[in-house]
Amino acid sequence: MLVAAGVLALSAGIAAGDCRAPALTARIPAASARQGAIVAVTLESDVALARASIAWGGREAAMEKGADGRLFRALLGVDFEGATGARTARFEVEGLCRDRHSLTREIGVVSGHFPFQKLKVAPAYVEPPASELDRIREDHEKVARVWESGDAGRRWDGPFQLPVEAPARDNFGSRRVFNGKPRSSHEGMDLAAPAGAPVTAPGPGRVALAEELYFSGGTVILDHGAGLFTLYFHLSRLDVRAGQTIGEGQSIGAVGATGRATGPHLHWGARVHRARVNPLGLLKLPSWPLTPSENSPTSQSN
Ligand SMILES: [Zn+2]
Repeated sequence: MLVAAGVLALSAGIAAGDCRAPALTARIPAASARQGAIVAVTLESDVALARASIAWGGREAAMEKGADGRLFRALLGVDFEGATGARTARFEVEGLCRDRHSLTREIGVVSGHFPFQKLKVAPAYVEPPASELDRIREDHEKVARVWESGDAGRRWDGPFQLPVEAPARDNFGSRRVFNGKPRSSHEGMDLAAPAGAPVTAPGPGRVALAEELYFSGGTVILDHGAGLFTLYFHLSRLDVRAGQTIGEGQSIGAVGATGRATGPHLHWGARVHRARVNPLGLLKLPSWPLTPSENSPTSQSN
């Protein structure tokens, strides 16, 4: 009955308390985004709302509500292999009278211009032996379950740090040819750190996975909440276990060359609502939580 009353008030144009159509403003930092980009979007309403969500890239994600109920924020991930061209972000809101409204905005996705890369690794990492196929399938299933297990609540409140102090290789998204055979594109970027260098959590999180996998070797996946995960591959040592909560800067392991690696380095990956994105974008995350005075996604206010 509440729903019917709300709709009636709206259709009659009566401002019954907060039961009127909100004026919605979507703030998107730029009209276009590169494949692999992380985009922080804000939705502002002139009246308090019950909730807001955003549909993007075939998925719908809840937006985090600010203290006064008028500001909402979410991260969007532009998958690095997603189509280029104009794509629609659809904001859906529910008012305090359960009235529903929506707003759409187009974001132009532009090519990441990812390079080709030829690599040489041990043959078993290009054509795995039959005896390892079950294990590889189990590894895939374990990782797939991680994406289902994410915590709804955001754990971070500002830009991330690098997980290791080392130069970044410009190889995010590269189309890779291993030992002359085309293989999957590079779902992360590599940091050229020496074997044994400490790897630290770039932001607060919960350890979603910490174990040895066939291709990625010593592997840690951190769940930062609100749809954001980061991944660490080829570690020679794991300092954390699944389920553990960790703070920014806490050690998660050591750089190594385990799994399909050409030599010691840290492979760093990130996912935003399943989209595979360049983790370097996390170094420029805006500060959270939301405050009513904040009116720009790039605002540094606390
Ligand atoms: Zn890598």
